Amino acid sequence: SSTRSRRMTAVVQAVAQRAGTIDVQRNENFGKLRAGYLFPEIARRRKAHQEKNPDAKIISLGIGDTTEPLPKYIADAMAKAAAGLATREGYSGYGAEQGQGALREAVASTFYGHAGRAADEIFISDGSKCDIARIQMMFGSKPTVAVQDPSYPVYVDTSVMMGMTGDHNGTGFDGIEYMVCNPDNHFFPDLSKAKRTDIIFFCSPNNPTGAAATRAQLTELVNFARKNGSILVYDAAYALYISNPDCPKTIYEIPGADEVAIETCSFSKYAGFTGVRLGWTVVPKALKYANGEPVHADWNRVMTTCFNGASNIVQAGGLACLQPEGLKEMNAMIKFYKENAQILKTTFTEMGFSVYGGDDAPYIWVGFPGKPSWDVFAEILERCNIVTTPGSGFGPAGEGFVRASAFGSRENILEAVRRFKEAYGKRN
Ligand code: PLP
Repeated sequence: SSTRSRRMTAVVQAVAQRAGTIDVQRNENFGKLRAGYLFPEIARRRKAHQEKNPDAKIISLGIGDTTEPLPKYIADAMAKAAAGLATREGYSGYGAEQGQGALREAVASTFYGHAGRAADEIFISDGSKCDIARIQMMFGSKPTVAVQDPSYPVYVDTSVMMGMTGDHNGTGFDGIEYMVCNPDNHFFPDLSKAKRTDIIFFCSPNNPTGAAATRAQLTELVNFARKNGSILVYDAAYALYISNPDCPKTIYEIPGADEVAIETCSFSKYAGFTGVRLGWTVVPKALKYANGEPVHADWNRVMTTCFNGASNIVQAGGLACLQPEGLKEMNAMIKFYKENAQILKTTFTEMGFSVYGGDDAPYIWVGFPGKPSWDVFAEILERCNIVTTPGSGFGPAGEGFVRASAFGSRENILEAVRRFKEAYGKRN
């Protein structure tokens, strides 16, 4: 009958409409994320500026990416390891997912010898950012989270992806405890006002403010975590940039930290490994969940299941970093970027800006009170052809600041300084 044929047509049409489309809902947590990760957005605006001004020689003090060539001793060690892979004796396949024993030993003795960490508490990885994501995966979606405000955006964004938060409310994400760090509290949060959370992300020296926490402050932080039964995820990616002797280079210098803290760190900013990729995470055996199970066992499970070990070539480079010659080269590289930081800091200070950071970190945090960060970013790009990072991209309390990174060739840093002086002169 015609009714039947009409029905058949409708079915055929419905199937045709469906063909090629997916019947899977998007992970709703991804819909909560804002405009995109901060740095791709900066790259987009940089590209647009370049297209509008094809002759502009843009200098980037934006993303904290290293610029200087790898130190020779370290690069040679990787070249040798790579060449060795072409020989029967030098070839190796899958390695231990936790990292090569010699490298775990070297990391433990170089960075944690004085702080009581053993080699089997060190897990070698392809970098700190990836470890932060895997840490989140280990915790699951239930824990509550606190971050310094402002802070490295990955803590918040991975928390959102995991479903640990509610929606963005215009200022920040519901469910995240933003611990404000500003000039008024010397960039250390008022913990008497901070809400208890399960997880506390804490980065020192901080990206973006460049502030390093003192021993007294970190003692307060560890005691706060102990009192609340919280786990501290301590990001020490810039620890070797610390000059101030009152600021510890690892959280494990603080008594009792081994029972509350995971620490993550990286060769990225120490040895120019941003592209090479090598980092590590420390999980002390004494750190236990509420039911007494060791976090170490779960982290080992994450690394063996979701990771297959850092590249053997790269681990040879990491091992070279920690030999006397490599350490010398690594420290020279850090010294170079720290000099850049001083050049930038001095310039901004002389121009009359409120300038923070730069002494214990490769970042300068410059205040533009009352001005939206993205406007300052746009103005500096327009007037100086220089890319900075808008402070608001690091959290609500970053509004009114921009971050300048000290990663750059000396030539570029000096040229940037010249352009800043030309555009902004002496303000006071
Ligand atoms: N943690 C902080 C605070 C960082 O600023 C960065 C990189 O900029 C990372 C971690 C990521 O380091 P990696 O290159 O080892 O992934």
